[in-house]
Formats: sequence, structure tokens, C-alpha cells
Amino acid sequence: MTSRVLLPPANLAVIGGGQLGRMFLQAAQRMGYTAGVLSEVEDGPGAQVANWSVVAQPDDLSGLKALASRAQGITVEFENVSAPALRWLARNRLVRPGWKTVWVSQNRLREKTFFASHGLPLAPWKPVRTKDDLEPALRALGLPLILKTAASGYDGKGQVRVDRDIDLAPAFRELREVPCVAEGWVEFACEVSVVVVRGADAKAVAYPVGLNHHERHILDSTTMPAPVGPIVSQEARNLALAVAEALETVGVLTVEFFLTSSGQLMINEMAPRPHNSGHLTIEANVASQFEQQVRALCGLPLGGTDLVQPAAMVNLLGDLWSGGEPLWDVALGSDPGVKLHLYGKRGAVPGRKMGHLTVLDPDPRQALDRALAARARLVRR
Ligand code: AMP
Repeated sequence: MTSRVLLPPANLAVIGGGQLGRMFLQAAQRMGYTAGVLSEVEDGPGAQVANWSVVAQPDDLSGLKALASRAQGITVEFENVSAPALRWLARNRLVRPGWKTVWVSQNRLREKTFFASHGLPLAPWKPVRTKDDLEPALRALGLPLILKTAASGYDGKGQVRVDRDIDLAPAFRELREVPCVAEGWVEFACEVSVVVVRGADAKAVAYPVGLNHHERHILDSTTMPAPVGPIVSQEARNLALAVAEALETVGVLTVEFFLTSSGQLMINEMAPRPHNSGHLTIEANVASQFEQQVRALCGLPLGGTDLVQPAAMVNLLGDLWSGGEPLWDVALGSDPGVKLHLYGKRGAVPGRKMGHLTVLDPDPRQALDRALAARARLVRR
């Protein structure tokens, strides 16, 4: 199975019809593939652009069967896909990433245990499966600490920072006493991420390091390359490649790090797929992270990861719509280098990722300033 190559116009599919699914579909179609989606809704970002859609929940067996009856190669846009379902699909279809990668990354306890068993650097952590684990975790980690649900947390959801020992048990109750990890608070200097791709032939490539800025726990901007110097940059890329190698994954994988002021890298988490911090690769790199997802799925040689030019990406959250439709013409008219991406989502709620802007500039700092300036011009005053 592993040596099979899917060439255009083979039929590919992605499980999940949000913006990541949409950008995968667009990359596949550009390369001449036919591309379908398993989407929870008929008119989501992915279904709007797909050649065909199956409307079903991501773990619905009849939906997955319908997908497999049409697609020769299947990938995912998020990690919360049933691992047994992926294993079942992989009996007759190319499925990348495989169930094991997805299974490890959909649970923080499994993920951290996996990283630790491979000697990868992490922020100090302890498992909290029941309330009896709280006291030992507190003793080991000190305060402040952060309690995170092991499953289905994203964009800061399912997390509580604890500053006083009396707040620990209430924080666990707030998280409904589900299995959690407790993490020591890291006074990081910045957050960075590396997108890597591992092909079916086990060759892997890494993109340059991205510098990430979060607001309210949601990614706000990414700048590439990150101003971290060659040693940290090489180490971050090597660590991300080591994660892909340890998982023996095939596909795109993103590793997020904390970087301390003394230059120490700690892995925060991984995603076995393209990532918001890699969206700027669409314009800024030889091959985008979505093109690489297609290449890895199909068993093709991987594309180049070099930057064509430094770049910055800023997210467009639903908050920008609070005063009405943003002023697209004003923002685009003020800087011809601004690239607009909208995901076709109906309903702009605060915090919802609606789109992003990318700007290329010889100076990465300038790229960020220009992207931020363009975003500021979107808002009606
Ligand atoms: P996560 O969902 O784990 O990526 O956490 C979301 C954001 O919360 C991170 O990007 C950090 O900005 C912050 N955060 C998470 N864990 C820690 C930690 N142990 N120490 C400091 N900040 C953290």
C-alpha cells in the first residue's frame, strides 16, 4: 500500500469541511485532482469549493463509507477523528496521516507521554486523572500552573490557570473533573512553531520557524522567519522533524514551542495537519503546507519549503464584523501587497476564524506591520 502513488485526476477527500479542509481542496484541485469533503454542514467552507461532498458527522460510519466509495486517498483537517474509523478506512484506501498519529495527538496525556518517552523537551507536567492527583501535581509543579483537559481543547478552551492552591480543586471541578494535564507556567519569551512534512518514502522537510503571537489564547499573527537566530532555528526544526520521525507519520505535522529568554525550547503541542501558523506558506514558500498535504497523501515527492520572501499573516476573527461588513476595498486599496483569504463562513461570531491576510516583504517586521495596518483599516469607525 505504501508505495502506491495517486496521480491527477485521482479522487481525494478530506474529513472535515472547515477552512483547513477548504485550503486542502483548493490545493488538490489546482494540481488536477478531483477533491471531495466529509462535512458536517452542506454549505461549510470546504463543501463550498469541493467537487463533491458527503454531509455527515466525522465519525459517522455510513458517511465514511460513502467517502471511501469515491475517494482513493483520504486525509483529515483536524485530529478529533475516530482513530478506529481511520484504521478501518486504511484497509482499502490510502489514509494519511495514519490512525496512530491522530490517536496520539487527540489527547494531551497520550501526546505528552509520547514526547517524554522519546526524550523530547516539554514544559514540566503531571497527569491529573482524578482529584487525588491534584495535590502531587501542585507539589511537583508549584504555582502558577495551568490545568488543561486531555481531550478536545483548542484555542485556549478547556484550560484554567491556577494562581492559588485553594483554586486548584475548583478549577478541576470547572473542567468537570475529566482527565487533565497540569502544566507548570512557562515564562516564555515568545511562541514559535515549525511545520514539517514527512513523505511516504520517509523523507521529511521542515519549513522555516514561524513566530506566533496569541490574543485571548487564539493565534493572532505569524511572522516567518522568526527572529530567533540560526541555532534556535535549527534546533526547533530538528525537534519538529524528530517528532514526525518518532510518529512515523506521513503528512503535514505542526509543532508549537515555547521559547524562553535563555534560548530553551519546550514543545507545547502538536497538530498532525496543516496549521494556522502555516497559512502564509500559500504565498511565501515554494510549496504551501496544503500542497504538501496533497503530495504526501498521494505519495508524490515533497515540494520546497524555502521562503520566496519573508512574510506575515494576521487572522481575521468574527469580532471585525461587529460594526458591519469590514471595509475590504479600503484595506486592499491601501497596500497592493495585501493578500485576502476569506473562508466563506456565514455568521461572524467573536473569536471565530473568518479569514486571514498575508503580506510578503523583504523585512519580516515590516511584513507584520503592513498586515496589521491593513487589518486596522478594515474596521468601520
Ligand atoms: P494551548 O492550547 O496549549 O496551545 O494553549 C494556548 C495558549 O495558552 C498558548 O499558546 C500559550 O500562550 C498559553 N499557555 C498554554 N500553556 C502554557 C504554559 N504552560 N505556560 C504559559 N502559557 C501557556
